[in-house]
Amino acid sequence: MIKSSFRRTQRLVVWLTVIAVFAMPVPVFAQTKITYHSNKFSAQDDVKVGRQAASEAEQQLPILRDAEVTDYVERVGRRLVSSIPAEFQHPEFQYYFKVVNASDINAFALPGGPMYVNRGMIEAARSEGEMAGVMAHELSHVALRHGTAQATKAQKYSLLAGILGIGGAVLGGPAGSILGQGGQFAVGAYFLKFSREYETEADILGAQTMARAGYDPKDLANMFRTIEGQSGGGGGGFLSDHPSPANRYARINQEAQYLRVVNPVRDTRDFDRIQARLRGYPKAPTTAQIMQSGQRYPAETGGTGGRNPDNPPRGRVEYPSSRYRNYTEFGLLRVSVPDNWQEIADNNNSVWFSPQGAYGQYNGQAVFTHGVNFGVVRTQSRNLQQATDELLNSLAQGNRNLRQSGGYQRTSVSGRNGLMTTLTNVNEATGRPETITLITTQLRSGDLFFMITVAPQGETRDFNNAFSNILRSVRLND
Ligand SMILES: [Zn+2]
Repeated sequence: MIKSSFRRTQRLVVWLTVIAVFAMPVPVFAQTKITYHSNKFSAQDDVKVGRQAASEAEQQLPILRDAEVTDYVERVGRRLVSSIPAEFQHPEFQYYFKVVNASDINAFALPGGPMYVNRGMIEAARSEGEMAGVMAHELSHVALRHGTAQATKAQKYSLLAGILGIGGAVLGGPAGSILGQGGQFAVGAYFLKFSREYETEADILGAQTMARAGYDPKDLANMFRTIEGQSGGGGGGFLSDHPSPANRYARINQEAQYLRVVNPVRDTRDFDRIQARLRGYPKAPTTAQIMQSGQRYPAETGGTGGRNPDNPPRGRVEYPSSRYRNYTEFGLLRVSVPDNWQEIADNNNSVWFSPQGAYGQYNGQAVFTHGVNFGVVRTQSRNLQQATDELLNSLAQGNRNLRQSGGYQRTSVSGRNGLMTTLTNVNEATGRPETITLITTQLRSGDLFFMITVAPQGETRDFNNAFSNILRSVRLND
């Protein structure tokens, strides 16, 4: 009798232990361990470049000035930030949260902490958990220092050196305005696009952070479904900034199995109230519309944003060196460039090579007086000449004085059919007339590859030799 009763009690104790283990908010076993990538920059560098990019972003994007909405998003953000695992906390970082009056379902965060959540994202989310999911994903890119890790990996030290040294000058320029047309805003775009590996890490750390904050990590997976559903499974918005790793949905849900949360936050009255409040506003423009309007927004008084001081290019530069240095860009381009020119990447799809003194910032825009720009753009047309026309039209929108001075000539780019055309422009920083050459060819994907050369009209002869050498050295491997 006694024995049997004892056994039953013992069994009950075992049962309770099992239940206790599974009911623990965040069991630590079986979670995926995330580690940092190698990084040549300090956490303080993250803060610095993020601040630059943030101040540029805030001039280009309309920030919703609604204290009730901002406070709410800030509260959710704080809750997530305090739940980032200790090994990914950085005392230097200053997280803050702003709402952008744009309708795309998107959000982004910059190195060191600034985060921007689109109104469209808050309106599309089906619960606070889904909104928190995207925010946790973004915070994870920041906490894992993906922006500077990416620059380290790509050996684009000069990019960040550029940002740290010459202000936001590298975050724009002609190619930037082209990308702006596609619905992405150009500023800081370098920090917005990551590899699938980084995306998976942000998903997993995002899920872990959500669970620690009392959210159901499955809501992160659900949010990706919501985004897919609302953007027609297609391009633009969050999914184009965040390439989807294979089995993203399944992978997050798998991680969620190890992250039990008791009574997760799902719908909150606050969330419903904020959504209703936002729906009362007139419809927000899309990011593409905002970029096309070209409107600049003044810095918020007393806010963290601020206008970058102008630092226009001097426009006096050294003669191109006869020694060349090789570069590999976007995983498809190999090119040789005079070794006294610097590599200045302005985002994932465009890079400049330019001599000292030939680049800077004017009216909040990157300006180049001498150099070459390479990039890849997606066009509607698959016909080389029509695609080149499209590119020219978008260039002309950002440069009022740009004029085509001749027709198209056939040329060869890495052994393929290419087109070349000459244009004239007036440099907005120096006021000097300049000659621009646009050379294009098509990639196997159908995207348009371009090379743009720029030099002041009186100096084209000094630079033409270097430009032809550069063009001849181009090797495309796609
Ligand atoms: Zn991402």
